[in-house]
Amino acid sequence: MAYDLADKRVWVAGHRGMVGSAIVRRLADESCEVLTASRTDLDLTDKAGVLAWMQANRPDAVFLAAAKVGGILANDRYPADFLLDNLLIETSIFAGAHATGVEKLLFLGSSCIYPKLAAQPIVEEALLTGPLEPTNEWYAIAKIAGIKLAQAFRRQHGHDYISAMPTNLYGPGDNFDLASSHVMPALIRKVHEAKTARAPVVVWGTGTPRREFLYVDDCADACVHLMKTYSDDAHVNVGSGEDLSILELTRLVMEIVGYNGDIIHDTSKPDGTPRKLMDVTRLAEQGWRASTSLKDGIAASYRHFLEGKYRAVA
Ligand code: GDP
Repeated sequence: MAYDLADKRVWVAGHRGMVGSAIVRRLADESCEVLTASRTDLDLTDKAGVLAWMQANRPDAVFLAAAKVGGILANDRYPADFLLDNLLIETSIFAGAHATGVEKLLFLGSSCIYPKLAAQPIVEEALLTGPLEPTNEWYAIAKIAGIKLAQAFRRQHGHDYISAMPTNLYGPGDNFDLASSHVMPALIRKVHEAKTARAPVVVWGTGTPRREFLYVDDCADACVHLMKTYSDDAHVNVGSGEDLSILELTRLVMEIVGYNGDIIHDTSKPDGTPRKLMDVTRLAEQGWRASTSLKDGIAASYRHFLEGKYRAVA
């Protein structure tokens, strides 16, 4: 059942994104040829263009890490973009993979596919058992469609397409733009700026929601592991298996940044789902677990932030 990446042509779709670029870094340790397509050369929402590119470049394996992504506010502001662009990217790449005989495809989703009030920690079987969190249901619906596409192609055509659902990721390549970012890069930036200005740290919402975080290079390692070892219908949660409250996270970031100021809450901003912790038993059964501690990961992220190695999306 193992899939050998040696000498394979491996396309990382979304190689400029945080996960995609981590997968490219990780694939340097495999003796495969990594294929990438720049945004100017290929529009991933263009089905005909994607097919032509795949026919010309002939990938054997595909990591589908391309997506329009954003935090709680961006999802709320651009629902049509989040739903349509992600559906178009998925349909273009799945159709192209089918047409060009791709041997193995790993689709990357997100933990937001699960119902808002799913029992914690969230098992893979919780999918489609209840209503989604309204603040990101546009993105979630598109990602659920991706899981179903992988399963449908397995069932109808016997293709070895699999899906991995990472928890909240952070690390090199993160988006530190406060209007569109997720909470981890936002807090790293906010705490740094509060320290510089000797001002309070403003945390959105009540600080009580709980989230799980995974360092993006750990996620990439898990994806390569699954690509090589996993072949089944069911999607696989990719997480650290541990969560903490947003307030606890704020304190941890403050400790790492070295700032002892006040914390204030902006409760005009939404809390989102109360808790999001994945059950990572299935991944553990595949012989993988996260290796970067939250403290080490945040410290590494903060170093990247200070070196300016971050993209601020306008
Ligand atoms: P979610 O995991 O899909 O809800 O997305 P986020 O990472 O954007 O937000 C997670 C939690 O962190 C929510 O409860 C936010 O209200 C909270 N939060 C606190 N401060 C911030 C911030 O500055 N930016 C963001 N994006 N979230 C924040």
